[in-house]
Amino acid sequence: MRAEIIAVGSELLSFSRTETNSLYIASKLNPLGIKIARKFVVGDSEQEIREALQIALKASEIVVITGGLGPTNDDITREVVADCLGRELHESKEILELLERRYSRFGIRLTSNNRKQADVPEGAEILPNPHGTAPGLFLTEGEALIFLLPGPPRELYPMVENQVVPRIQKVKATSQRLMRLLKVAGEAESRVDARIESIYKEYPLIETTILSSPGVISLYFVWNGVDQSEAATQLDELQGRVAGALGQSVYSDAEMSLAEALGAKLTALSKTISVAESCTGGMIGSMLTEVPGSSVYFEGGVISYSNAVKSRLLDVESGVLEEHGAVSEPCARAMALGVRRLLGTDIGLSVTGVAGPGGGSEEKPVGTVFIGLAHGGDCEVRKLHLPGSRDAIRLRTCNLALDWVRRVIE
Ligand code: ATP
Repeated sequence: MRAEIIAVGSELLSFSRTETNSLYIASKLNPLGIKIARKFVVGDSEQEIREALQIALKASEIVVITGGLGPTNDDITREVVADCLGRELHESKEILELLERRYSRFGIRLTSNNRKQADVPEGAEILPNPHGTAPGLFLTEGEALIFLLPGPPRELYPMVENQVVPRIQKVKATSQRLMRLLKVAGEAESRVDARIESIYKEYPLIETTILSSPGVISLYFVWNGVDQSEAATQLDELQGRVAGALGQSVYSDAEMSLAEALGAKLTALSKTISVAESCTGGMIGSMLTEVPGSSVYFEGGVISYSNAVKSRLLDVESGVLEEHGAVSEPCARAMALGVRRLLGTDIGLSVTGVAGPGGGSEEKPVGTVFIGLAHGGDCEVRKLHLPGSRDAIRLRTCNLALDWVRRVIE
């Protein structure tokens, strides 16, 4: 499970306050095995809260939003979240009575601003806040759990401990039994969906979610039925059928990176690999070495960004560079063969391309990438045309390169 934290409050963006709520939240969620995928610090701005929530909901199962639940006009978290999820706000009698009691203790009558703290989005559960006026709120949206919590740390900390952690533990315990997943590489999201749609539609009690990042797609199958007796059988069946339909594109049925899957295969085959990277500047090497124990199969690499390094270290002939350029089929081939020779590995992998935003031409537009793979007696080169930003092109290149090796080696 992944979580995202959105800290709301313009003061957190100034020099005078440090955002610390997310540290506390992470300290309580990490021990549950939950990774914090991203943190946002946004001002009291409708657009920024909305954008952060939309991004977070696309990628993670848990979203914790802190701050902006108070009574003043700039406290808009509750309203923006409700609007973003298409939920109406209703005044909660229970909260209103609590607020009246609390304020009357100080001899204060409720104003309309105070009253808005009693507004609750449709379907939300109220999380009591014994240390302040603003209660927290808990909502579910599809598979996602969304927590809205007050900003002041002394109010937030006990709520994380007593309200958030137990709810996540409960969902985790159930979802582990009632969820399956498949990790897919080297395929576009739309193509994957087109190939499996008719299968998962046969399982109305299972919710299928497709999450994509450049080069890797995660498929989640979650049991939605009340009766769980059929859950495991149906989930296994659906997972098996989808895996069958996607064939070699499935690289795992557990949460793992492509580099981990490739690492396991290289280890099993006792093969070693080296990389020569141009447009990815060492990212493939970094992904490979993120995996503990990768020294068994990964020898190293050359970041051959300039032509001089390509020639000097990888023996790419100057004629190749002059005639075809650095982003070319012969150059990728020479790089893969060169690094394999230099580092004495079984496999040599190379990438060279135009990641943009500048540097493209009519013949080689931004997104043109060549991947070279030297293995056995062969050296093959693939030419790709990749969409997206510089970051997306580089990430997709890495994943496609790793995926190609995974598919080819035996
Ligand atoms: P209320 O207005 O009732 O206090 P609220 O939910 O609106 O509650 P904010 O007004 O956003 O909370 O924050 C109140 C104070 O809490 C801030 O001035 C700041 O000192 C502290 N605070 C808020 N968010 C954070 C954070 N993410 N990290 C550290 N301190 C925070």
